[in-house]
Amino acid sequence: MQVRQVFGMYFDSHCHLDFEPLSGDIEGVLERATNEKVDAFVTIGTDLQSSKSARAIAEKYGPKVSFSVGIHPHEASSLDKRAVEELMEIAGAGPVAVGEIGLDFHYDHSPRPVQRTAFADQLDLARDLGLPVVIHSRDAALETLDILRAEKAFELGGVVHCFSYDYSMARKILDMGFHIGVTGVVTFKNAHDLKEVVKKTPLDSLLIETDAPYLAPVPYRGKTNEPAHVVYVAGAIAEIRSTGVENIAEATARNANRLFGKR
Ligand SMILES: [Zn+2]
Ligand SMILES: [Zn+2]
Repeated sequence: MQVRQVFGMYFDSHCHLDFEPLSGDIEGVLERATNEKVDAFVTIGTDLQSSKSARAIAEKYGPKVSFSVGIHPHEASSLDKRAVEELMEIAGAGPVAVGEIGLDFHYDHSPRPVQRTAFADQLDLARDLGLPVVIHSRDAALETLDILRAEKAFELGGVVHCFSYDYSMARKILDMGFHIGVTGVVTFKNAHDLKEVVKKTPLDSLLIETDAPYLAPVPYRGKTNEPAHVVYVAGAIAEIRSTGVENIAEATARNANRLFGKR
């Protein structure tokens, strides 16, 4: 494997380059990211179409842009046998993960039993493909743990992205060998639980992400987010952990390369 110099470079482990308005200006988005030393990205699939778009973007702008395939819990109702076959086909092009998959009991855009089934089925898919998983979990901590344990997800590895639970949940996720994905929410004043999680989580289990175009960190809160802004996520983590931002950049890039580079 090629040894990459990652010191001081940032890895945005979760963004949606196929979503507007990013999709209309991907070259500009990547150029602004490069200017901030953000030089690696995973663009995440959320349904069949988005997984195809993510693949196309990765093929066009790779190798620094990689992609994942998966059906978001919001779209869980769309996962049938044919969709699984299509995901398998898209996966032929070499995604680095299956995701984002999981449970969202905050919005409940798909019925909960359907979300559970889609989640478990896609953990199976990840196993078949030999890939780690990117988990979306909101207001569904215990159910998420139950399914991850029942499906022996510790054998797959992965990340709970946009982590939104307290440290006791983080501990259980970490005990499964999973990573904690931290978004711009960590820059928000009232994010007490997340700041505690960031402080206590071992550095080799943290990933940084934008979830762009959503969740812009301070000082862009409320505006369109883009991968360049992941430096503010790293900056907030560095401040909480009383260390240099380059340490956070280096460690989280190493973690992301290890997690997503194992194919
Ligand atoms: Zn998500
Ligand atoms: Zn996302």
